[in-house]
Amino acid sequence: MSRVFNFSAGPAVLPEAVLREAAAEMLDYRGTGMSVMEMSHRSKTYQNIIDTAEADLRKLMGIPAGYKVLFLQGGASQQFAMIPMNLMKTGAADYIVTGQWAKKAWQEGKLYGRAEAIASSADKTFSYIPDCSDLPVHDDASYVYICENNTIYGTKFHTLPNTKGKPLVADVSSCFLSEPVDVSKYAMLYGGAQKNVGPAGVVIAVIREDLITEDVYPGTPTMLRYKTHADNGSMYNTPPAYGIYICGKVFKWLLDQGGLAEMGRRNREKAAVLYDFLDASRMFRGTVVKKDRSLMNVPFVTDSDELNKKFIAEAEAAGFVNLKGHRSVGGMRASIYNAMPMEGVKKLVEFMDGFEKRNG
Ligand SMILES: *Cc1c(COP(=O)(O)O)cnc(C)c1O
Repeated sequence: MSRVFNFSAGPAVLPEAVLREAAAEMLDYRGTGMSVMEMSHRSKTYQNIIDTAEADLRKLMGIPAGYKVLFLQGGASQQFAMIPMNLMKTGAADYIVTGQWAKKAWQEGKLYGRAEAIASSADKTFSYIPDCSDLPVHDDASYVYICENNTIYGTKFHTLPNTKGKPLVADVSSCFLSEPVDVSKYAMLYGGAQKNVGPAGVVIAVIREDLITEDVYPGTPTMLRYKTHADNGSMYNTPPAYGIYICGKVFKWLLDQGGLAEMGRRNREKAAVLYDFLDASRMFRGTVVKKDRSLMNVPFVTDSDELNKKFIAEAEAAGFVNLKGHRSVGGMRASIYNAMPMEGVKKLVEFMDGFEKRNG
């Protein structure tokens, strides 16, 4: 068996310790004689798995009382609709458009009311985060929406926008659990698990309880109401049971590593190794305004498409996989989530350095 260094943006690398533990429990989960995959979600054993996962997530993020944790399905993309259906109580909401995911959420929002883009970085191919200190937030906006870390373009809101008192809703899919977070600043944050938390198929939403009401867009299906899931402990129907179990293991792993403060420290260190190299290189360069750089997704290019292609192919042959940039932007992208060890980043930089010397 040999593991590669997997720089995929998602589904992405998971901690090896978690995978080993899951493998060891595959045929017989702790004396039950069955896999978690085969288990009734109504069993005591499973209830304990989901309760522990939620408790550990609350501990990790310091989620205050008054917030619900929901384990949902449908990917982060399902939330693009669920958010306006459930939270656009005034029929209006403001969106900050900093990339394709934010744009998709904005477009979806328009199906349910007056969704307006109050800031955008589309003018420079989403290579920066606009100044959000004094935006024209609408008086009747039910919320202000952001995509906090832009997976495709590699930018991050290092300062949250001034929403002028309006509830902040954030897609944190690709920066979930990457550093400490003050949950009380958000009305809702959510993310698909497959970037930094667990397997695809699980979406985790943390929502202020007072926003979870029956006052939803007319015709909102039962399954798409937050209240349905909140009232039933995320088990109105069969939850993505195995995925939640793996997420729970990742939460334990994060706690064992020292929690989010420690992850933040490691992630800043890892990102610095890669960005410092890019800043010094004469062949490779980062594509994003420095102050807005993501710690998780690092896009970079050379000046030649041919060289990009050659680099990606040679890197793959050397065991550094999934470095191809998103199909919409080209070039390269290294996603260096929590589970990517420093060793992987250092070896990648060594490889890039060698490539530059051979081809410079
Ligand atoms: C990947 C991603 C999505 C889409 O996730 P799905 O689970 O495939 O729907 C949405 N937002 C962000 C920030 C992402 O990185």
